[in-house]
Amino acid sequence: MNKCTTLHWSYRDFTNVPIDLLYYEETPEEIYLKENFLTSIPAWLLQLNNIKFLHLTGIGQLKKLECLDLSENPIKTLPVEISECSRLLELFLNGLAELLYIPDRIANMRTLQTLSADRCGLLYLPASISKFIAHVRMFNNLQITHIPIAYEKHFTSFYQQVQNVPRTTIDPYLFLIREKETNKILLLPIGTLKVFPIPSCENSVTLYDHALRCINYMNHFISIHKHNEILNTLPTVAMKNHIKNGPISMCNFCTKLLYTSYYLMVVKRRNSTSKVIFTCNFCSMFCSNYWMSDNKAKYYPVEWEICDN
Ligand SMILES: [Zn+2]
Repeated sequence: MNKCTTLHWSYRDFTNVPIDLLYYEETPEEIYLKENFLTSIPAWLLQLNNIKFLHLTGIGQLKKLECLDLSENPIKTLPVEISECSRLLELFLNGLAELLYIPDRIANMRTLQTLSADRCGLLYLPASISKFIAHVRMFNNLQITHIPIAYEKHFTSFYQQVQNVPRTTIDPYLFLIREKETNKILLLPIGTLKVFPIPSCENSVTLYDHALRCINYMNHFISIHKHNEILNTLPTVAMKNHIKNGPISMCNFCTKLLYTSYYLMVVKRRNSTSKVIFTCNFCSMFCSNYWMSDNKAKYYPVEWEICDN
C-alpha cells in the first residue's frame, strides 16, 4: 500500500495510466502525467475522487482520441493541449464546478462536434466557437453575464439564466463594463486590456495585438505554441501565454484574431421579451459597421461604459 499526496509520473514513456494507482491507500491529490504516450484516459482515473490536480500536458499526443469525458471532477483549468487531439469529436465537461473558463483554442477545435459544459463555474463563455460544432450545451453556468453572439443559435432555452452580478471577487483585474439600458455589469474574457466603443475616435487595436497576430501566423508553420524553447524567446511572459493559450476572441465579421484589445458592441434582440445581452467583438469599426448593416433588423445596439472596479 502506498500513500502520498503528489505523484510524479511525468516523462515515463507510459502508454497507459498505470493501474497501480487503484491500489494506493489514499489517492494522491496531485498527479503529474505530463509528456507520456497515453492513448486514452481510463474512466476509472476520472472516478478517483481525491484527485485535485491532474497534469496531462502532452495530452495532445492522444491523436486517436474521439471522446473525452472529464465530467464531475474538481478540475480548475483545462490544459490547452486538449486542442491538439486532432480527432476529438466530443468533449464533456459537465459538473466541473471549479472550472472558470474554457480556453478559446479548445472551443475552436475544427473536429469538435459536441461540447457539453453544464453546471460548471464558468464566468464567461469562450467568445468564439468553431463554426463546425453541432451541439453545444452550457446550462446552469450561473455566473455568466452575457452571451457572445456566436452562440445564439445554440442557446435558445438558455437565455433566461444569464445573471446580473458577476463574481468579481475572484480576480480584481477582471475587466467589467456596464450596459446602460438596464445597468447590468458584464464580465469580459480574462486577457482583455482595452475595449473600444462603436463609434470610437480612438485608434484601432494596439500594435501589441498586431505583433501577436504576426507570431500566430508563424505558428501555422512551426507550431510555436507547442514548443517552450521557442516560446521562451518571446520578450515577455504575457506574450508567451497569449501565443500558448490562443486569442480570447475572433472578429465576429472577418474572424481576425483578437488578443487584448477590440471593438465591443453590446446588442439585444428587437421585439424580444428575453432581454438577453449579446456581445460582439470586432477588429475594426469597418467590421462592426458591416456586421450591423447585415443584422440591424434583428438587433439593436446598447450603450455601455467601462466599470471602475
Ligand atoms: Zn474584422
